[in-house]
Amino acid sequence: MDLGLAGKKVLVCAASKGLGKASALALAKEGVELFVCSRSLESLDEVIQNAKALTSYPVHAAACDLTCSDSRQSLIETVQKEMGSVDVLVHNVGGPPPTTTEETSLEQWESGFYRLFMSVAHLNQAFLPQMKANQWGRIAIVTSSSVYEPVPGLAISNAFRAATTNMAKTLASEVAAHGVTVNCVAPGVIYTARTEDRIKAAIEKSGGSHEAYMKKYTAEIPMGRLGTPEEYAAALTFICSEPASYITGHTLCVDGGKRKSTV
Ligand code: NAD
Repeated sequence: MDLGLAGKKVLVCAASKGLGKASALALAKEGVELFVCSRSLESLDEVIQNAKALTSYPVHAAACDLTCSDSRQSLIETVQKEMGSVDVLVHNVGGPPPTTTEETSLEQWESGFYRLFMSVAHLNQAFLPQMKANQWGRIAIVTSSSVYEPVPGLAISNAFRAATTNMAKTLASEVAAHGVTVNCVAPGVIYTARTEDRIKAAIEKSGGSHEAYMKKYTAEIPMGRLGTPEEYAAALTFICSEPASYITGHTLCVDGGKRKSTV
């Protein structure tokens, strides 16, 4: 299938590792002009080199702390200067710390809001006008399967992913007539550095062997295994593609069948 992405201008946030990196490379493979960001430029070296081998269009990069408004503004200006506009905007950022609702401090709630909600609102506001003017655009937001079933111990993520999902749904109907789609791509459990850290922390807390923990963990997933970043990136790339033109306001869950609800 021709995904119709060749030559499109794509911004992937938080792309130095994990889901962001895999998504940036899957999009690069489609022959896009790519802009990647993460907190440090050095951490982006590998993804830049790999992406350059996949696309004949330029690959740009900038450091950006997506939790900070000034840093986001500076990213926006750099992207506009170097790439002009953005056709495909992929929102991603490192996850917030794990906490229960009771132990979450007011500072952590506020920081979660800037991390997971304001970063999306700010970049959308910057890049949407041009997408509407072009009558073509794709916005994809990395969220979490917690929007369907809150994950115990991830209070901040549970709260703000839901808010971001509702913002996306609202925006999707507002811009649909302009050829712009807005969708969320919700990972279940995909094997990345963050997942590895969470598994290690859980084993330290509960005791027992890695093997026993993984056996129990994967038993909850009908496919009996964790997903790969590449499987996640393939779903995200499709939702950003031309053939996905009639899909908007949707959350695509990439979870090996783990989610129990039907919607
Ligand atoms: P990861 O830790 O492997 O990668 C996170 C990326 O975000 C890195 O490139 C990191 O440098 C970057 N980053 C972190 N803080 C940043 C900041 N303030 N500004 C800019 N960049 C920043 O994580 P991942 O597993 O790829 O997860 C990506 C997102 O998906 C996270 O928000 C995570 O909570 C969410 N998620 C992941 C899973 C999963 O199974 N991997 C499941 C549900 C939700």
